[in-house]
Amino acid sequence: MAEGVVIDGRAVAQGVRERVRAEVAEIEAEHGVTPGLATVLVGEDPASATYVRMKRKASAEVGIASHDHEPPASVSREELAALVAELNEDESVHGILVQLPLPAHLDDAELTALIDPAKDVDGLHPVNAGLLAHGRFDEALVPCTPRGVIELLRFSGAELRGARAVVLGRSMLVGKPLAQLLLAEDATVTQAHSKTRDLAGVLAEADVLVAAAGVPRLVGAEMVKDGATVIDVGTNRTDDGLVGDVDFDAVRPKVRAITPVPGGVGPMTIAMLLQNTVEAARRQLAARRAAATTS
Ligand code: NAD
Repeated sequence: MAEGVVIDGRAVAQGVRERVRAEVAEIEAEHGVTPGLATVLVGEDPASATYVRMKRKASAEVGIASHDHEPPASVSREELAALVAELNEDESVHGILVQLPLPAHLDDAELTALIDPAKDVDGLHPVNAGLLAHGRFDEALVPCTPRGVIELLRFSGAELRGARAVVLGRSMLVGKPLAQLLLAEDATVTQAHSKTRDLAGVLAEADVLVAAAGVPRLVGAEMVKDGATVIDVGTNRTDDGLVGDVDFDAVRPKVRAITPVPGGVGPMTIAMLLQNTVEAARRQLAARRAAATTS
């Protein structure tokens, strides 16, 4: 069998960015408003700072206005809550991203829940998780990484309807929302995690395998079905550099298609953040227009 196709996440992400750039221009023409994304980076964690910088740069490149906030690591819960409240009220801000994890004295889930769900472009607010679980996709803001995974699967031409999909991982950020999205695509979904028995046997059943465990090269060739489509969300810093959860070189000869790390899911996550921001802007502007015409 020929080696699996390598799914080029950078190229797919570039396509999404171009679409978003066009949408930004459309929104400006129609409403005279530039979509705005507020990013909140608390403290000086280098990994968080890098992610936020990439997000700000990507926003600027598609014409989204970037509102940058960088409170010190010592910021109090009340001060941060006040900043979120201010951004919730600010009509020029359509998306709010509080980079996680926050310093230890702050509660990630509590602060996330203070964001207006309509502006929650990371899709982590319980209201958005609930809308996703209810299949109300027109109202929900869906977490960026799982959304990007679905786009990559579509691009790769993987058949999802009726397929056996296994999601390795059950986090609120990736695994759980991804399982919901795959269900909505009519896949038969299994969620595997750290307590799963016979993990290799479960993974080997997958026509579509998405790995999001955060364990370098956990998934070896013996765990993957011939002809499967494999998406590797894992981003693990090791002595060999950045590696995924899948042993790429061992697995690629067996599969239909596979994403590399880096250059697979990562670029899509940022592209979907931009997509979520323009969608949030469109909905808020439509709601404001509707409110203005009825009052
Ligand atoms: P997490 O630590 O919150 O969750 C990991 C999940 O994997 C858990 O549900 C756990 O049960 C499961 N797991 C852990 N070890 C396992 C094992 N040995 N066997 C079976 N299951 C196991 O992580 P997360 O936030 O969901 O992220 C997962 C990975 O994806 C990380 O490497 C993270 O860096 C990466 N990530 C990448 C992007 C991106 O844009 N590329 C975005 C988000 C997360």
